[in-house]
Amino acid sequence: MQYQSTRDKTQKVSASEAILRGLSAEGGLFVPEQLPRLPEQRLERMVNQDYIQRAQEILGDFLSDFLPAEIESCLKSAYGSGKFSGSSIAPLAKLGEDAYLLELWHGPTCAFKDMALQLLPQLMVASAQKSGDGREIVILVATSGDTGKAALEGFCDVPGIRIIVFYPEEGVSPLQKLQMATQEGENVFVAAIQGNFDDAQTGVKRLFTAPGVIQKLKEQKRAFSSANSINWGRLLPQIVYYVSAYCDLVRDEQIVLGDPINVCVPTGNFGNILAAYYAKQMGLPIQKLICASNQNNVLTDFICTGTYDRNRPFYATTSPSMDILISSNLERLLFHLMEEDDAAVRELMESLKEKGRYTVSPQTLARLQADFDGGFCDEACTAATIKRLFDSYSYLCDTHTAVAVSVYEAYRARTGDDTKTVIASTASPFKFPHAVLSALGGETAGGDEFQIAERLAELSGCQVPGQLAGLREKTIRFTEVFSKEGMEEALEQALPNA
Ligand SMILES: *Cc1c(COP(=O)(O)O)cnc(C)c1O
Repeated sequence: MQYQSTRDKTQKVSASEAILRGLSAEGGLFVPEQLPRLPEQRLERMVNQDYIQRAQEILGDFLSDFLPAEIESCLKSAYGSGKFSGSSIAPLAKLGEDAYLLELWHGPTCAFKDMALQLLPQLMVASAQKSGDGREIVILVATSGDTGKAALEGFCDVPGIRIIVFYPEEGVSPLQKLQMATQEGENVFVAAIQGNFDDAQTGVKRLFTAPGVIQKLKEQKRAFSSANSINWGRLLPQIVYYVSAYCDLVRDEQIVLGDPINVCVPTGNFGNILAAYYAKQMGLPIQKLICASNQNNVLTDFICTGTYDRNRPFYATTSPSMDILISSNLERLLFHLMEEDDAAVRELMESLKEKGRYTVSPQTLARLQADFDGGFCDEACTAATIKRLFDSYSYLCDTHTAVAVSVYEAYRARTGDDTKTVIASTASPFKFPHAVLSALGGETAGGDEFQIAERLAELSGCQVPGQLAGLREKTIRFTEVFSKEGMEEALEQALPNA
């Protein structure tokens, strides 16, 4: 299977190249030329398989230049080596009659990014072996919090790879900051940036395409790659858990094979929900994809009107991983909705860059609305949802998940659609202890994040995950803050003998 660029279809690469490069040279994103199919007989077979076997089925189709044994070995290192608590990897928790929370946060950093970022480094090492040019890979990551730590964990001390993470100094939670600043490993570097996530992301894109920087890297026998959710190797592992969740629902007799489900996803960069869209396009019986936003509701407006407009206030919310005004992966969806018209995608992306906005055609909007619904939830509503879930179901959820639950409930009330719905639960509540404790009416004054997490544990009867509690003993390694313009300087510090 070949992959093509959303901005120039003549740019075609193999799966391993798409994973190594991250981004196409002219700035487009790689998408598969055609999608494998998931007919009912195939799903039926997968019902009785475990997570790794299901993943092997799906990845095998997409990674056609990998040997089955290579894929298996990657999957076993990612999901089979005890880094995920529990054997089901992504368990479902039933919420009331018709909703299920797909818990994607049982990995090493307690957020759903682990699902992809435990596997991506394995895929990248295997891809690099295929290309065989011996260059060191330099991973650049812009993060709104969770990606950074999950990438650092995934790439830590992976041979032949270095990783540099940029995060907005004021845009991540104290715990997220601590998780990154204490990261171990000889091949890692962490830089705080003055600005917000979009500044960090724009800066990384600039480094990626700056001719001077690329040339210098080449002389050092190095090459950039990306672990951001624009990398195909990030999206692919996410398709798996939607298929797996569907199989679990069939296995547990919650639905009958062939029954439609809806999927609701708390959305930022549009990666997670796009993976669900791909699963639907492959034939998984998904009816509606419900895109949930926080107060930064640029996607809600887009789905509603067909105009994407980032010229609006930016809100720092209690669900910081969704505080995003440019959702990069949307470009892939546009490419598919516009019948793979690369010139039209280029135009829209040009308009986004120049004017901060674009409008799609009525036909494209109709296609978008056939698959997607959207809604948003403000801060008060997020907190109220956390409290209500805890009071009604004794279920403790984080702020991002609460946004999705609230948008799902509003969707259901507005449309009367009572199709069984899988809601992506994207972080452990203990990753955002301050906001969650405050939503439950607990005392948040006084005490550091750890004491607040302890209070949350006491009040809820849940345990603080060991990965978070253990941070307290770790040494802080990275403290430097760089200006937006100083990202190149960070790069030089991060790369020895640069
Ligand atoms: C990254 C993240 C999101 C948003 O996911 P996208 O794929 O960027 O849309 C939602 N919730 C949490 C906890 C995250 O870390």
